Amino acid sequence: MSEKILIFGEVAEGKVATVTKEILTAGRELANQMGEPLSVLLIGENIEGAAKDAVSLGGDNVYVVNGPPIAKAHPDLYLAIVAEACKQLTPSIILFSHTDMGREIAPRLAARLKASVTMDCIKLSIEPNSGALLLSKPVYGGNAIAVWTSKPGTAQIATVRPRSAAPAESDPSRQGKIAPLTVSVDPSCVKGEVLETVVEEVQGIRLEDAKVVVAGGGGIGGVEGFTLLEGLAALLGGTVGVTRVPCDEGWKPLSMEIGQTGRIVSPNLYIAVGVSGAPQHMTGCSSSKLLVAINRDPDANIFREADLGVVGDYKKVLPSLIERCKSLKM
Ligand SMILES: Cc1cc2nc3c(=O)[nH]c(=O)nc-3n(C[C@H](O)[C@H](O)[C@H](O)COP(=O)(O)OP(=O)(O)OC[C@H]3O[C@@H](n4cnc5c(N)ncnc54)[C@H](O)[C@@H]3O)c2cc1C
Repeated sequence: MSEKILIFGEVAEGKVATVTKEILTAGRELANQMGEPLSVLLIGENIEGAAKDAVSLGGDNVYVVNGPPIAKAHPDLYLAIVAEACKQLTPSIILFSHTDMGREIAPRLAARLKASVTMDCIKLSIEPNSGALLLSKPVYGGNAIAVWTSKPGTAQIATVRPRSAAPAESDPSRQGKIAPLTVSVDPSCVKGEVLETVVEEVQGIRLEDAKVVVAGGGGIGGVEGFTLLEGLAALLGGTVGVTRVPCDEGWKPLSMEIGQTGRIVSPNLYIAVGVSGAPQHMTGCSSSKLLVAINRDPDANIFREADLGVVGDYKKVLPSLIERCKSLKM
């Protein structure tokens, strides 16, 4: 068996995870450009439904390994399974989502396969003349985009940043091959022990799933100011996120941070309030469909990134905006 492009698919509660749907979009485009089939590796128990979904979402060959579900899996074990699967399938392009599991496995797999690895890519394409895979990723804190490739003949591994592609649409009429893959893995490969798993409590809409995000920065000045942002977010059916400053100041928890070291969001509407527009923050929201900035400093960097901007004190701008939204909703 020899496969050209292999996606490491993540399965959550028996379904193909959204992050995997996104790399199915990116992988499908590559497969079409190269005229090659797209293969998907799924690991789990009783995941026949997810395997069928992977075909309807764009996979041509779906290989299913019977193993622990990802939520309970140890990265050492998944690494061993994926490495063994790659020995059998010999893919030359292997794609992971830039998730906890993807980040754990991809570099270690590259070391085992003597392959190249490029982490946190936002775009994949094929160079038309050479047929080389080109991998684009933000560098220098998001201030520039670098395009990487590998020497011909080297297997290429990439992790793809969540939200950098739209999730693949399901087409139940698509046909593909689903096959079990038997891999033998020595259980002693698991060296570490997971002592505790903490499920993060989410109140309201998850930041990553929100269609509208109202983000507050250092300019909000304290926890009280967020009442206005929460009011606006509720009116628009969205949720509130923050920059690093409100977390550092203890106004909001770290789980709400957007940016390089926080969440990556891609809402239809992103309203940045009292946010300077530092590159480390913009990395987390630059793929928003419409970016609106409210800042009292006309020279703030955020205005270079925003589609629409209001120069003013948010304490004056937001109450008017909220009233206007209320009147439009009536
Ligand atoms: C390695 C590294 C990783 C980082 N990762 C992240 C990250 O993931 N996410 C992140 O956000 N940051 C991150 N940072 C921090 C980042 O560099 C910035 O310091 C941070 O984003 C600044 O936040 P801010 O724009 O909210 O605050 P500030 O820089 O304090 O800017 C506040 C803005 O509010 C405006 N303002 C003030 N008062 C008002 C008012 N009343 N009305 C309207 N506007 C007002 C000001 O004009 C100013 O533009 C990281 C930094 C490093 C070094």
